[in-house]
Amino acid sequence: MAYVVLKRGRDGRARARHPWVYAGEIDAIVGEHAPGDIVDVVDYKKRFLGRGFINPASSITVRVLSWEEQNIDETFFYRRIAAARDYRRAIGAEAPCHRVVFSDGDMLSSLIVDRYEDVCVVQTLALGMDVRMDMIVAALRDLLGTSKIYERNDSRVRELEGLGQRSGFVSGQFPTAFWAQENGLSFWVDVALGQKTGLFLDQRENHRAIAPWCDGARVLDAFCYTGGFALHAAAFGAREVVGVDSSASALEVARLNAEKNGFADRVSFVEGNAFDVLRRLDSEGERFDLVIVDPPAFAPGKHAVEAAYRGYKEVNLRAMKILAPSGILVTCSCSYHMRPEAFVAMLADAAADAGREARLVELRAQARDHPIMLGVEETHYLKCAIIRVS
Ligand code: SAH
Repeated sequence: MAYVVLKRGRDGRARARHPWVYAGEIDAIVGEHAPGDIVDVVDYKKRFLGRGFINPASSITVRVLSWEEQNIDETFFYRRIAAARDYRRAIGAEAPCHRVVFSDGDMLSSLIVDRYEDVCVVQTLALGMDVRMDMIVAALRDLLGTSKIYERNDSRVRELEGLGQRSGFVSGQFPTAFWAQENGLSFWVDVALGQKTGLFLDQRENHRAIAPWCDGARVLDAFCYTGGFALHAAAFGAREVVGVDSSASALEVARLNAEKNGFADRVSFVEGNAFDVLRRLDSEGERFDLVIVDPPAFAPGKHAVEAAYRGYKEVNLRAMKILAPSGILVTCSCSYHMRPEAFVAMLADAAADAGREARLVELRAQARDHPIMLGVEETHYLKCAIIRVS
């Protein structure tokens, strides 16, 4: 087996059990190796640190899968996926729709597996994982008791690994759009054409967390997609819910979902740019008791943090302006690069500009089936602040 020698003094991250080894930390690669092969990572004195797969074309050159000297084979993946399943079982997160494997949060760097009823959706976002698709699919079929597995490898992040885009059946053939349950509500899920792998499963617990603020409320759900927050608000007793999204196809499904759950009389949707719609609602003097803001990632990389800060501040400022006195803002950011402290600072900034006092009721993260691995900051990406605005 080839091995990767880290530069002297550059082994701190590996010793702290962070699985990414960057090209700049590597002193030498010793031995024959092909992209995707399993290699050892050692320090400058050749002491073992970890074992994982290599991709010399990626700036994350090695992704460590094990901190022990064990074979990384079919049995290894089987056991790791079983451990991921057992973890969710242990914390009570095994809902009809949930994330079965969350990449570095499950020590399976670059592997994502989502489950929607009896359909699984898999993403292998790095080369070393991609070439092992067959063993992953075999393990999933066995462990999850389903042979319906679809791959959504059309993510652009694969380009960083020199991988192309691809999607389709990897096991079985089945309808790719169907009704699925989240928190007892029905959602139309399209695993082939939906955003992400179908639903934003990372918001499942945040969808539930709005319950105390909904009864009798007038609610605005900005960036609503297929109505995740909007439908929950209606189920929790909202008097009126308006959802806003720029995607016509998402709203088509959102309307179908509202009808299916019996909320068509209270829930409506507006197609448009949320920034513009919020401004228009403000100028028309419309007020809401609960406003939800769940935009796409504004900061795709470190370089974009400043622009993202301005975008988040702008949209939150507009949301605060249309809140009724003592209204609640539920506001999210799924950009890893917008760290929680910066996110809260941005909200304080927005409140000051809006001339409102804001209290942080709760600061939440992604659902627990997207585990945050301590020491791997990147696994903590979603922020969801619940704020009461005077
Ligand atoms: N809140 C949703 C997930 C939102 S994902 C849920 O809980 O399920 C972000 C959404 O923002 C996507 O549906 C995308 O279509 C939409 N979007 C992106 N830019 C937008 C904009 N400028 N105005 C309105 N919607 C936008």
